[in-house]
Amino acid sequence: MPSDSPGTVGSSLARFVRHTSLMRGLGFFAAAFGIASSLVDRGVSDWLLLVVGINAVAWPLLAWQLSETSTQPLRTTYRVLLVDTAIAGFWSAVTGFDLLPSAMLMAMMMMDRLIAGGWRLALRALAAMLAAALVGWSLAGFPFHPQTTFRTMLWCMPFFVLYPLAIGAVAWHLTERVRARKRELEQDSRVDPQTGLASRRQWQAQVIAEVRRYRRHGTVASLLMLDIDHFKRINDAEGHLAGDEVIRKVANCVLQGLRGGDSAGRFGGDEFGVLLPGTAREAALDLARRLGQAVRECVFGAGQPVTLSIGVAEIGPGLDGFESWTGAADAALYRAKMAGRDCVRE
Ligand code: GH3
Ligand code: MG
Repeated sequence: MPSDSPGTVGSSLARFVRHTSLMRGLGFFAAAFGIASSLVDRGVSDWLLLVVGINAVAWPLLAWQLSETSTQPLRTTYRVLLVDTAIAGFWSAVTGFDLLPSAMLMAMMMMDRLIAGGWRLALRALAAMLAAALVGWSLAGFPFHPQTTFRTMLWCMPFFVLYPLAIGAVAWHLTERVRARKRELEQDSRVDPQTGLASRRQWQAQVIAEVRRYRRHGTVASLLMLDIDHFKRINDAEGHLAGDEVIRKVANCVLQGLRGGDSAGRFGGDEFGVLLPGTAREAALDLARRLGQAVRECVFGAGQPVTLSIGVAEIGPGLDGFESWTGAADAALYRAKMAGRDCVRE
């Protein structure tokens, strides 16, 4: 449900206000035919029919103005939704509870309020409808004519056809928006926005899948843990934006050096993980050295070539769980740092 906070004004809230205003305009216009026909069946005077017509056009316009100009558009929209049901209850009672128009108004109004605000709004709307029905009924002298004439049935058809179609279209539109947002969120959670590499979560999922493959089929695989050396110095010397650019370039350079099945992920900060399915220790060490060399040759920060420390670990007995395998690669990375950086260790 949209909120009345300023951040949502102009976006989902504005859309919600617009949707309800459009639905109201359509609903009141289409329902007026059935109500008017029912009143004609009761032989009411022409001025009452005129009131129905004016109500059908003027109220949606006034409600739209109130919602659009309100400083609390959400609260006003919900109040206006309650007034809608009160008006429907009023006219339903004045017709003497003519069955088809009354049931039509009641069912559609309740469905609409349920969609807009759940049971809470629907029950409040029902109370407003009953209270207004009581007022309308007493003003009209307590008429009771539930039989619907065939003509009134026909005049109810525009509402029966148009309103559910409109509700369906709005509901479909909202569902599509939710789906699109969900896809965006899923995409965001899979990709590190800064580098375009797999996010830490996504990369971990790939490592876990590889661990499962090893346990089931004994397939070989290796992990690299890469960390930029003295990265803080680049940040300190050239600022965070330049640091960000170095991270992007290193990620790009690493990506270029990998084969199709390999997967690089941002582990956090200036640390990356590379999963190498089907690659044994020797080939992984080779690749790690090549990646270190490539970064040293093409990425510069604070006037110096950027270097990497890299830890390598092959999957195997004792290293056949996510924690133990990544832990081994991390320990190897630590050894590379201790050995003076810009090197590969296993
Ligand atoms: P070491 O050789 O021991 O790795 O030294 P280091 O300076 O690289 O130290 P460390 O890896 O611990 O620090 C990384 C720093 O990177 C810490 C943090 O302020 C910075 N950092 C982390 N993420 C980002 C980022 O996205 N952009 C920038 N510009 N800096 C980052
Ligand atoms: Mg570092």
